[in-house]
Amino acid sequence: MVTGALEAHGTHLPLSTDTILSTYLAEKVATKTKALVLPSIPFGDSWSFNDFEGTISIAPDALTDFYISVMKGVFKHGFRYLVVLNGHGGNIPELTIAAKAATETGQRAVIIVNWWKDLAESARKLVEETPMGHAAEDETSEVLHVRPDLVNMSKAEHHRVVSRFTIISGMLREELLPSGVYGDPRLATAEKGRLIFEQAEEEMIGLINQLEKGELPITKG
Ligand SMILES: [Zn+2]
Repeated sequence: MVTGALEAHGTHLPLSTDTILSTYLAEKVATKTKALVLPSIPFGDSWSFNDFEGTISIAPDALTDFYISVMKGVFKHGFRYLVVLNGHGGNIPELTIAAKAATETGQRAVIIVNWWKDLAESARKLVEETPMGHAAEDETSEVLHVRPDLVNMSKAEHHRVVSRFTIISGMLREELLPSGVYGDPRLATAEKGRLIFEQAEEEMIGLINQLEKGELPITKG
């Protein structure tokens, strides 16, 4: 299950960045494993980006119900494991609630992979010169690798508004997240994106192989 979003990523990246990247990874992995890939879900919870042009956000309850229906649908057909390859942070609360509801009964598990932070940790450390962000060096490099035709580097701006607290405000989106950018995309390159994806793909293949053997990705201390 591939979950994305349609939301502003500055003006240098496509609105569907999160869907493009997670779909690319899922399809790559599927060609090298027996995993089946569901059609990607192109909308997500993009509340924080609602004031930026092009963003379409799904209400949390509707999104949660949608995810539950997809997950239950998969399990109804006899699958035991469902991997969610999630491309967007805003979807995490809904995915978590949905996975709890869908796995309440039966021998089944949903494995949520928030790929930008769960995968390719060492490749990211090696190639990234600025901290992880939104529409920043990491995501921009990844889109440059996958769909360079959709990137306009001349529009790449850097912003990083920080607070030690969590500030939520529908009134202050532009102030809290200028242009939908958090971080610095200016050092992004396609080569950095390629190296990140290479490792992410390898790790995903490892996860699928493990699940195919009936093993969960856990270590016991
Ligand atoms: Zn994104």
